[in-house]
Parts: sequence; C-alpha cells; structure tokens
Amino acid sequence: MKRIEEKIHSIKPVSYGKDKFINKELEPSAKTFYVCRNCKTENEIEIEPYKTGFPFFEIYRNKLIDESIILDSGMASKSIRQSEYLGEYLVLNLPTLYFKTSCKNCNSDHMVVFGCGESQPGKQICKISGVWNIPETTKLL
Ligand SMILES: [Zn+2]
Repeated sequence: MKRIEEKIHSIKPVSYGKDKFINKELEPSAKTFYVCRNCKTENEIEIEPYKTGFPFFEIYRNKLIDESIILDSGMASKSIRQSEYLGEYLVLNLPTLYFKTSCKNCNSDHMVVFGCGESQPGKQICKISGVWNIPETTKLL
C-alpha cells in the first residue's frame, strides 16, 4: 500500500472482484482482487476499515489528478452538501480513500479507490469504485 506522489496523466480500468462489503463482511477485513492490466495476474486487495488507504482528497488537492479524470472514470462523484466536509469528491458520500499497489508479477502500478464508513446508523459499508492501471506519471517540480 503506497501513496501516490506523482502526477497521473491517464488511467485504464481493470477488472476486479467483489466491490461492496457490509457489516460482518468487513470483519476483520474486506478481501477481493484485481487483474493486472499488463500481465493478467490476479492480485489480492485487502481493505481493513480505518487502517487501509490514504485520504482521496490528497491527490486532487495536490493536483496529482484532474477533476475530469475523477468524474469521467466514475472514480468518485461530486459530494452532496452534507458530506462536503469529507472532501469534494466522494464514493457514495462516504469517507473516501485510495492506495497504490503494484502487481506482484510485473510490478506495474494500479490504484484502488473506495468509500468506507457508516451509510446509516448501524450499517458499515465499504464500496470500491474501481481499480485502475496508472501507466504514466511524472514528478511534479
Ligand atoms: Zn502484472
């Protein structure tokens, strides 16, 4: 699990497994997988609520990804007013996180974006909005 520290120029969607986990399915962690865009190897994704991921707003507030990429890819949507304190772009208006991970076989970079939190009292939910290969990045000056 790594932070994104370079500018993302393009993303390419990859296929992944189960994308929604509720209550007990999150204990102790949500487990699914993605298929590497480059070599087709299946890689595990594990999300431990409140431990896995970095705040998604870090990457757009630091201008590492354009708003148009976020919206066009379905990575996140503009947040409703009551959820704006969590960030401008959210998954299901939940606290939204991301992490970068590399394929265990060919090392190519992918990013996972998900919302995780209480959607209503007593209902803990984790929803993965997608997994993308990030083929090109450049360091910001
Ligand atoms: Zn690979």
